Amino acid sequence: MDYDIIIKNGRIIDGSGNPWYKADIGISKGKIMKIGRIKPSEEAKIIDAKGMIVSPGFIDIHSHADYTIPFDPMTTSTIHQGITTLVVGMCGASLAPVNPEKKELFDKEFSMAAPPGLEYNVTWTSYSEYLDEMEKIGCSSNVAYLIGFGMIRLAAMGYENRKPTNEEMQLMKDYVKDAMEAGAFGISTGLIYTPQAYAKTDEVLEITKEVAKYNGLYFSHIRNESHLVLESIQEVIDIVEKSGCRGGQIAHHKVSGKANWGRSKETLKLIEETNQRGINITCDQYPYNRGATSLITLLPPWTHEGGPERLIERLKDSETKEKIKKDMYDGTSFESFVKNIGWENVYISSLETEKWSKYMGNSIAEITKEEGRDDSFEVLCDILIDEEAKGGMTVESMDEEDIQRIMKGRYTMVGCDGSAIPLKGPLSYGKPHPRYFGTFPRILGYYVREKKIMPIEKAIRKMTSFPAQTLGLVDRGLIKVNMWADIVVFDEEKIIDKATFEDPHQLSIGIDYVLVNGEIVVEKGKHQNNLPGMILRSS
Ligand SMILES: [Zn+2]
Repeated sequence: MDYDIIIKNGRIIDGSGNPWYKADIGISKGKIMKIGRIKPSEEAKIIDAKGMIVSPGFIDIHSHADYTIPFDPMTTSTIHQGITTLVVGMCGASLAPVNPEKKELFDKEFSMAAPPGLEYNVTWTSYSEYLDEMEKIGCSSNVAYLIGFGMIRLAAMGYENRKPTNEEMQLMKDYVKDAMEAGAFGISTGLIYTPQAYAKTDEVLEITKEVAKYNGLYFSHIRNESHLVLESIQEVIDIVEKSGCRGGQIAHHKVSGKANWGRSKETLKLIEETNQRGINITCDQYPYNRGATSLITLLPPWTHEGGPERLIERLKDSETKEKIKKDMYDGTSFESFVKNIGWENVYISSLETEKWSKYMGNSIAEITKEEGRDDSFEVLCDILIDEEAKGGMTVESMDEEDIQRIMKGRYTMVGCDGSAIPLKGPLSYGKPHPRYFGTFPRILGYYVREKKIMPIEKAIRKMTSFPAQTLGLVDRGLIKVNMWADIVVFDEEKIIDKATFEDPHQLSIGIDYVLVNGEIVVEKGKHQNNLPGMILRSS
């Protein structure tokens, strides 16, 4: 047999959770054709993996790379982590469908989501047109898509804070149907974000029933990750159970806010018990004690009604401002970061104006002091007005014990919860969360090698066969004959993340080779500028 590539002398960790073994791998036409002793042939490219681990390519089960691939399909920050498949359309956010009848809303939405100076060239309306367009652009890694509930609600009813009419409900179901038929793996919600946050459980359930017809999955950034974390996980369980969909995934699972630290014991117990009674609930996690999201998430959801312009009007009205402040400090009507962790733990990650962008990396408490002012709430309002409601933040809200407990959990996978960005250029603006660059190597280097919190085989299973099985990808996630050759070759002693909150634009190290569909994308740590990834479609 002739092979295109032979990976020789490596220690294979096959993704199943089994201990490593020694073998060569023969790759032909994009697939793994032989595992065993292989004689080198003249035609084949040889990768000498002596002293290295050879594992299936990593599957990032929670990615926002769909927002950056249209601008740069090289997936630099993720491919150098060994990620060969990105699962996108998370937290209710996706770039389709687009309702042409609400064009202005979408223009606004896309300009809010685009990095400064860049604009999306949106040529699609339906989900299937969108996936076809992404297929034309290509990508260095494989991409699997979910449909975002936020986008279909925006398409059907704009920023309205009310129940959908029967017609609007039907329209949302039609959008889901189109996406599922185009090959989406399920739906995602982000129930802290507007307009999604305006939807009650029944509405989400009704729409998820449409997903269930196609045997799809329900992913959720839950309604509350702090004082109502258990109730919010229960909402996922109810939606999965009553809709009959294939399974539910709790996105970037955490317990947020000091008052709730330790409660991962309860959340993991609930997940375990639910699985034991036959309802499939899984979760994912990024290995950092800070979260990251948009700055306007600090404000109560009602302030977003009607869209960003209305939000800014509210911030300029002193009476409304008092009401906003009260809701934020009281923190019972929504998940209030300010109430849960305080201004000193809310760090600015991206801003655009000259006046404020110098504060990227600082906490809002620090900015208040630096500006010689005493009311952080007033400072936030000024920032949001000047920045036209844009801007990002990181929030230090998690406890290390919870992080490790969740990481080791039986139902936990790994997700970056970031987009895929290059080291330089407009896409790399601000100080993004280091998870964009470091998530997978941080688990293998810091938590597995240094902290020894679990065996490497278990960690790799969480990054490969477990997410593949969850998605129903039967031909990826394992080193096995006839699987697609998505493969990572890395040095177990060297692999580590380099990105930090202060200096996030740093590639992880210790990963020598990354193969996607049998093509070398990273060779000796260098990107080959090729796009062998596929759009994976659910069958
Ligand atoms: Zn999220």
